[in-house]
Parts: sequence; C-alpha cells; structure tokens
Amino acid sequence: MLETWQFRVGVYSKYACKPEDPCLLYNSEGELLLNPQSGELLHACGYQGLLSSRPQDSAFLGTWGGRPLYAVSSQELEPSASGRLVSLREVLAFHEPEQGCLACMGKQLLHWRQQTRYCSACASPLQEKQGERARICPACQELYYPRINPAVIVSVAKGNRILLAHNRNFPGNTFSLVAGYVEVGESLEQAVAREVLEEVGLHIKNIRYWGSQPWPFPSSLMLGFQADYESGQLNPDGEEIDQAGWFTLDELPNLPRPGSIARKIIDSLLAEKKQ
Ligand SMILES: [Zn+2]
Repeated sequence: MLETWQFRVGVYSKYACKPEDPCLLYNSEGELLLNPQSGELLHACGYQGLLSSRPQDSAFLGTWGGRPLYAVSSQELEPSASGRLVSLREVLAFHEPEQGCLACMGKQLLHWRQQTRYCSACASPLQEKQGERARICPACQELYYPRINPAVIVSVAKGNRILLAHNRNFPGNTFSLVAGYVEVGESLEQAVAREVLEEVGLHIKNIRYWGSQPWPFPSSLMLGFQADYESGQLNPDGEEIDQAGWFTLDELPNLPRPGSIARKIIDSLLAEKKQ
C-alpha cells in the first residue's frame, strides 16, 4: 500500500522519471489505467510495457516505500496494456481516499505543467525550478507555481429540510448543494452568501466551515460550509440553476455520487440525524 508519499521539498527535482519507477498512469483524456495484475491505481514496476511511446510528461508526487512516485501521462497506451481505464470521478467514488488524493494531485500537476510551458511576461520557454515545485523563466526569472482556484459549496438548512438545487449541467435529475468560485477580493463566507443569493435568491446566516477537498476539474480546491436559511423566496436563477427545493433527509432526490464533497456533507447530515 501507499506509505510515505508526502511531498518532499528540495528532493523531488533531482529525480527524473525512469521507466521502472512506480507511477500512476494517465491517458490524454485524464483517465487512469488500473494495474492489470492488482487492479490498483499504482503501477509498482513503472510504465514498462504499458506505453507504446515515451511518456508525454511526468510529475513527481512524493515517495512510495522510499522510491520516487510519479504521475505519468501518455497519449498512447500499449494496446496489450489490458488494465481497465477509470475516470478520476470513479477513483474518488470507489477507491481509498488516500489513492483518490494521489490521483487528484497527479491530474492537477500534469494539467498545470501542460498549461504552464511559456512565460506570460516574455514568452520564453520555462524551465524546471530546482528545489521547488515550480517553473522559472530563464530570461526574466519569473516564477510559476501550481495555481489552485478556490470554490465554495454549502448546505443550507431550514428546520429539518435542506436546500438542494439542480444545475443545468448535471446529468439527469441529480440535485446537489449550491456551489461556485470565489471572486477576487472576497472572503470565503462572502462567496458562500453571494452564491446562494445569486443562484437561488436566498439570504443565509450562521455560515460555518465544514471541510475541504481538492477538486482537480481542472484545478480547484472545494471548501465546504454549512449555513442556515435567513430570509427570501426560492428563486432559481434560470441560467446555472433550473430547479431548487427544500428536501427532508427522509426524501432526498438523486444525489451526486459518493466521493464528492457535496455527497460527503449530505452523508454527514444523514449520519447526524441517525444518532
Ligand atoms: Zn520571462
């Protein structure tokens, strides 16, 4: 199993990924290839025999059993690489949380590297920064670190009911919590209150932090909150949210699949109720 995969500043950039190094393997769609033997995400013997060409890129994640562990991306997986491909959302739903974290970290870092190849100030190709997880411009010394975009998600309670909304982009009739990106200059609590007001027309109170989850679609950090209804009539904005309603925990509609912070917050409310 995964042991010490903690981030080791100052050590990682000395490593270059070798074919036999342990890795998580992503195709160009961002899906992960499961190990054909173990069914796990980790390929303990590296990508040997699994790729039909050199990897497109790799990102150091940490160490595993004292060996460097990488996220490796490739456009061409070997046809004989018979392991099943899984989406990151499936990994979050059905694999151990620690593996989900690693898979998110790899996806986010590979995406960042792919999007951060040239200097925004002078357009020179960037180089790896030694000793830090960063890239540097050799011409003007500008530094580029992985960027994380904060987003908030909130469960709003009104008596024994919670607010759930259907986003136009959700598949089928899945309902979830209200969520959105934090704006520049905003506190997290302000973002929570604004999103609820904008999306469903309600004022809320008692906003309190619940927990967080990396959300690499493509590079967010989801910060979860709970709050209480204060005033206003439900009025979905019609653009992002086309339906919203108050639901008792006994009569919930179709929910997001397990693994998402939305589902974890709702499940925690259900667990509280049963106690
Ligand atoms: Zn530059």
